[in-house]
Amino acid sequence: MSSSPIASGPLARRNSRRVVISHGAREIVVGGGAPVMVQSMTNTDTADAIGTAIQIKDLARAGSEVVRLTVNTPEAAAAVPAIREQLDRMGVDVPLVGDFHYNGHTLLTDYPECAQALSKYRINPGNVGKGAKRDSQFAQMIEVACKYDKPVRIGVNWGSLDQALLARIMDENAGRAEPWSAQAVMYEALVTSAIENAQRAEELGMAGDKIILSCKVSGVQDLIAVYRELGRRCNYPLHLGLTEAGMGSKGIVASTAALSVLLQEGIGDTIRISLTPEPGGDRTKEVVVGQEILQTMGLRKFTPMVIACPGCGRTTSTVFQDLADKIQTYLRDQMPVWKGKYPGVEGMNVAVMGCIVNGPGESKHANIGISLPGTGESPAAPVFIDGEKRMTLRGDRIAEEFQNVVLEYVQTHYGQA
Ligand code: SF4
Repeated sequence: MSSSPIASGPLARRNSRRVVISHGAREIVVGGGAPVMVQSMTNTDTADAIGTAIQIKDLARAGSEVVRLTVNTPEAAAAVPAIREQLDRMGVDVPLVGDFHYNGHTLLTDYPECAQALSKYRINPGNVGKGAKRDSQFAQMIEVACKYDKPVRIGVNWGSLDQALLARIMDENAGRAEPWSAQAVMYEALVTSAIENAQRAEELGMAGDKIILSCKVSGVQDLIAVYRELGRRCNYPLHLGLTEAGMGSKGIVASTAALSVLLQEGIGDTIRISLTPEPGGDRTKEVVVGQEILQTMGLRKFTPMVIACPGCGRTTSTVFQDLADKIQTYLRDQMPVWKGKYPGVEGMNVAVMGCIVNGPGESKHANIGISLPGTGESPAAPVFIDGEKRMTLRGDRIAEEFQNVVLEYVQTHYGQA
């Protein structure tokens, strides 16, 4: 067979080191060719141990493989061991990451049980301290990480860039025959901050395979430029995320645009989607979006995918939208149980189509597909299983009956069955 000139799929993954984030027997591997990991962050007051533990449980149940929480006060640091214990009691073994700014050196030293309960520390080199204190406070945090054998993320953010380093790079730029643009100087400062601080951590005794880097910015093109350079200059695993992505569709679209370009180029070992929740909205949305980016790109499989047509003038009732929504929700809700019981089910495709134009064709490509009757068509919904028409559903209970067909397919095609 001759090879086709049309190639698909991402470029080979960047060759990064392998870092392990662990809690008890649970080990999450980042980098070294491991699947791209999805993480999230709480927005509760960490001092509220019960409220925070509940949100972490929800995020973990949604599929977050690591959860970060802010550790900003003595009360928050004191609550971390209680949060860990509560999660362990609930059977939630997701590793926790402490997010430190300004006082991390003090909190990690004064609250050793907090330092032990966390599985990783995030250190923002722009917020470690100023002047002479900066180096000693950074060293203090690295010392604690080494003492408890914890990995760290050196997490640079352009909203809190190390001002002394930025001034140094601006001075260097002023001495150039042809100075760089302000944008290029900013990129250089972000990348340099991450790499120099990682090198400093290694000089202080931290193993290179305990370090993950990130350089978050809020502009899509900026993020792509910075990570391409960061990926070129080092082999630490990279955590990707568009910081302050925003709310609703804007946050989702911006994050997807930025991350998908980088992931397609093989850059990125772990991701977080920094969505601003709608008032009263669900924090787990950021996990779902992260998973959907990876799954739609073909990089990982988390939940059976529903392929649905957009509907048009041929679908004048809401039956079709209701069915697509019900099936999508049903599949996601079942996954915490199905994941262990029916291995491989996450790769299943279900098609829900609105009429005869593309319905049968698309349904035949899916594992299971249903083609609902469009306006004016006979009120019958053919169901296709593995490309063959197997039955026709009619009447008011099409949704329930189709759900049962999906369940039976799962039971007979995956895992123990
Ligand atoms: S499959 Fe039918 S209902 Fe769906 S978009 Fe195409 S023509 Fe419209």
